[in-house]
Amino acid sequence: MADGKDKKRCGAVVLAAGQGKRMGTSVSKQYIELGGKPMIYYALCAFEESEIVDTVALVVGEGQISYAEQEIVRKYGFSKVCTVVEGGKERYDSVWRGLKAVTSVQEIDYIFIHDGARPFVDGAILRRGYETVKEFRACVAGMPSKDTVKVVDEGGFAVNTPKRRNVWVVQTPQIFEKSLIMEAYDRMMETEHGDVTDDAMAVERMMNVPVRMFEGSYQNMKITTPEDLEIAKVFLGIQDSYDIQGNELRSL
Ligand code: C5P
Repeated sequence: MADGKDKKRCGAVVLAAGQGKRMGTSVSKQYIELGGKPMIYYALCAFEESEIVDTVALVVGEGQISYAEQEIVRKYGFSKVCTVVEGGKERYDSVWRGLKAVTSVQEIDYIFIHDGARPFVDGAILRRGYETVKEFRACVAGMPSKDTVKVVDEGGFAVNTPKRRNVWVVQTPQIFEKSLIMEAYDRMMETEHGDVTDDAMAVERMMNVPVRMFEGSYQNMKITTPEDLEIAKVFLGIQDSYDIQGNELRSL
């Protein structure tokens, strides 16, 4: 059950400190407007409205704290955002800062780590994640790959074709028991970790704890390129069209 006396305390780290270079805009991608709101608004809304998550640390880019506090947190009334902190050079640097921030504010049992560039996370995904983490201690949203995947060598030749039913595409949220993810990151940051691209890798490597996949959704995509932004507008049913700087072009 999600509520009642057995409800565990859940914190979230929402990441918005990436530069979004592949988007090709001067505006950081988390602030690009989608339906008249900055992209980061949508993920924060899902956490704000969720009965599962109690508190949120928002991780933003260098020099963006007061902007985010005023133009995002205060403006849209995100009362669960208890702290806004600056991220670091790589995603794992930002996660580590977010983890330390959210655990210093409140006692929590589980931590949800989410890419702010995934606006379509929703209450159902958060509930599935909560039920899964309670059982398995570490879990990651994802979906079975629709495509066949090839592992290739440095020369671009296929060396291996995993069975498609065993291949999942990884998303966020990635959810962990607090002590497990804190210990994993603590150890990982002390060792070679340049190739770490998601949080589950830290737990798999450092703690030797199996990470359970649970169903996210095919809509829970990460907005990375201008094409992704067009798809996101379709999902949102947006009538107006904006250029990648967020300027309105025309009404459809
Ligand atoms: O770069 P990528 O698209 O993989 O980033 C995934 C998420 O991690 C995004 O929400 C981005 O804002 C965040 N990120 C971050 N700090 C970094 C790099 C990425 O918070 N240094």
